[in-house]
Amino acid sequence: MHDVLPSEMHLWHKLEQTVRDVCSAYGFSEIRVPIVEKTELFARAIGDATDVVEKEMYAFEDRNGDLLSLRPEGTAGVVRAVLQNGLLYAAPVRLWYMGPMFRRERPQKGRTRQFHQVGAEIFGAPGPDVDAELLVMCQRIWRELGLDGLRLEVNSLGTSDERARYRENLHAFLSAHKSELDGDSLRRLDRNPLRILDSKNPAMQSLLEGAPVLSDFLGQESASQFSGFRRLLDDLDVPYNVNPRLVRGLDYYSHVVFEWITDQLGAQGTVCAGGRYDGLVEIQGGKPWPGVGFAMGQERLVELMRSQAEPEVQTPHVYLVLAGESAVSAGLSLAEKLREEVSGIRVQSNLGGGSFKAQFKRADRSGALLALVLGEDELRQGLVTIKHLRNDLGQEQIALTDLEIWFRKYLRVLN
Ligand code: ATP
Ligand code: MG
Repeated sequence: MHDVLPSEMHLWHKLEQTVRDVCSAYGFSEIRVPIVEKTELFARAIGDATDVVEKEMYAFEDRNGDLLSLRPEGTAGVVRAVLQNGLLYAAPVRLWYMGPMFRRERPQKGRTRQFHQVGAEIFGAPGPDVDAELLVMCQRIWRELGLDGLRLEVNSLGTSDERARYRENLHAFLSAHKSELDGDSLRRLDRNPLRILDSKNPAMQSLLEGAPVLSDFLGQESASQFSGFRRLLDDLDVPYNVNPRLVRGLDYYSHVVFEWITDQLGAQGTVCAGGRYDGLVEIQGGKPWPGVGFAMGQERLVELMRSQAEPEVQTPHVYLVLAGESAVSAGLSLAEKLREEVSGIRVQSNLGGGSFKAQFKRADRSGALLALVLGEDELRQGLVTIKHLRNDLGQEQIALTDLEIWFRKYLRVLN
């Protein structure tokens, strides 16, 4: 579990603000659901035989003996909230969320035990038009974040009956090659053989070359839903590859599934994953409402932004140097006045006293562009001294009454 440090906060803010703006431009509303829910909610929604439920959840018993878990993903909680609060009366409902998720995975590059996701869900729309629009929205998010080189992979998982037939065939194929399976795949063979398809082990990948493919098991309706989806992506200029082995780690998916992948983050290159989960609302006790959604990994996106986007640091514009007792209260009021009247200005006041020299040292370390000096002399004369710290423009004195205008102009030129 990692700290998010001040030096990278601007990237998180940019990601979060972009998501907020873009989701709202597509008619989504934000929802916030609890971090802790009953364990059975996740077990039922995600599936008992998934890695997440089988071995990754932070599950515990509270003082009343209730079995609770830190949420490993957002969709199950959102479905619960939608049902409990009767939000489906206005279906289709378009919701987005953002926040921390917890999975006790083996720590490795690109995987942490507390991570953050942005997710979007649409309930009550059967697709494939909403599915395609969701991907257009993702594409817009990448564009606004300035990210390049993300490729889209899509597949269809069909209906649960079609998947069950495929699963039998795949199971038979893999059982016939049991001696060639690695440990992970052996463990998954009987419980969740589809998951073997996305093994990263090259030996498994080459074994799978000869395995049956899911698309051969899709019925007429699933196949035509999938081709309708692909046609829309073509029309909307969203490039994609069909990856017949793309499956998802969570059981609730059906029909369209997708992942956005980058080659720039090493082995864990999926930054966004999702698809259709038409059975999920019913599993949770609602009517069979169709659903579709995605989740993005914020850590991975921030990592990509760090390598691709221009650095931008939020240092103060002004460091206020306060010389002498009486300058402290006058200075703090002056700083307040500036924040109030000059929109966007970042002012850091020197607190805790210190010699002139010490204060200028701090001013320099803060990264501020200007030092504003307020001493007893300045106060008496109704002046301040402005000293440029990052160029050789030297210093100037201006009247306190002219200060706001001076700074408004200064920021205008700066931007
Ligand atoms: P994988 O097959 O890689 O384990 P998953 O099916 O567990 O993937 P999802 O549950 O679909 O992944 O999560 C969606 C996205 O959330 C991922 O693509 C990734 O960007 C991010 N994510 C998931 N788990 C982690 C983690 N432990 N640390 C950081 N990001 C994560
Ligand atoms: Mg996982």
